[in-house]
Amino acid sequence: MSSSRLSVGTVLLVLSSLVGVQTLLGQDMASAVIETREVAGNVYALFGPGGNIGVSVGDDGMLIVDDLMAPLTERVRGALGELGEGKVKFLLNTHWHPDHTGANQDWGGSAPIVAHHNVRHRLSTQQEVLGMTYGPLPAEGLPVVTFTDSLSIHFNGEEIRAIHLPGGHTDGDIVVWFSQSNVVHMGDLFFNGMFPFIDLGSGGDVLQFTGNVSAVLDRIPENVRIIPGHGPVGDIEDLRRFHTMLTETTAIVRAHIETGKSLEEIQAEETFDDYPGWGDVFITAPQWSAMIHASLTREDA
Ligand SMILES: [Zn+2]
Repeated sequence: MSSSRLSVGTVLLVLSSLVGVQTLLGQDMASAVIETREVAGNVYALFGPGGNIGVSVGDDGMLIVDDLMAPLTERVRGALGELGEGKVKFLLNTHWHPDHTGANQDWGGSAPIVAHHNVRHRLSTQQEVLGMTYGPLPAEGLPVVTFTDSLSIHFNGEEIRAIHLPGGHTDGDIVVWFSQSNVVHMGDLFFNGMFPFIDLGSGGDVLQFTGNVSAVLDRIPENVRIIPGHGPVGDIEDLRRFHTMLTETTAIVRAHIETGKSLEEIQAEETFDDYPGWGDVFITAPQWSAMIHASLTREDA
């Protein structure tokens, strides 16, 4: 398998596995539509086949969080053009996955890319996720501003704060807090209304993921608007429900393990009936059981 990050076959495979096959069936990349939603304050969200894009729009220009995939860049530019004439001045990557960074090289020549250190490391070396291999990005696609704990960009009249929350979805996850607009972009630490994908091979872990979501809940105000990595824009109740799902389904799988059941037995039996439909969007109930099981039974757990 070619490791070219940009081949259409790779893109479609990634999207069909990362985003959910049903969103792409009968829909090739050329016909994918980018939808725009006003979120709050200066912040908008763009939705397409891949990770949700957050946008700050104002007198300073635009700042975007994540960038979907290269074949969609012209459509993303068109959607941004509808929001204003300002240029994109900064691009933030919430983590390295190709459905969030797949267009980095289209933006990096004109806007500095900002990300956690580990994201630059992963984007500059060969990576694997969901059975696919990705070669290093060209230099113009790599983050040029990197940080370890947090970083603030003062832009469009507010502090836009990128905060590293380690070891949840990957080892480079950040959440982005738009302090005056009262919006947080969670990256893939939040899949709204569906079981999440957790990349154990990139340093992710279900327990750490749950702890990171809890840490965000402790820090955000009640009336916040939340852009998830996947799914519709939500509020704090949606994030609380997601956190409850994480803790309850983890407890269920833990109880099965303690009674001596194998992963296969757990997968055959457990449908997480308190969360109907959550396994129909992207990650199925058996896949979710497997991620929890792997996190609970790892040698260093
Ligand atoms: Zn991801």
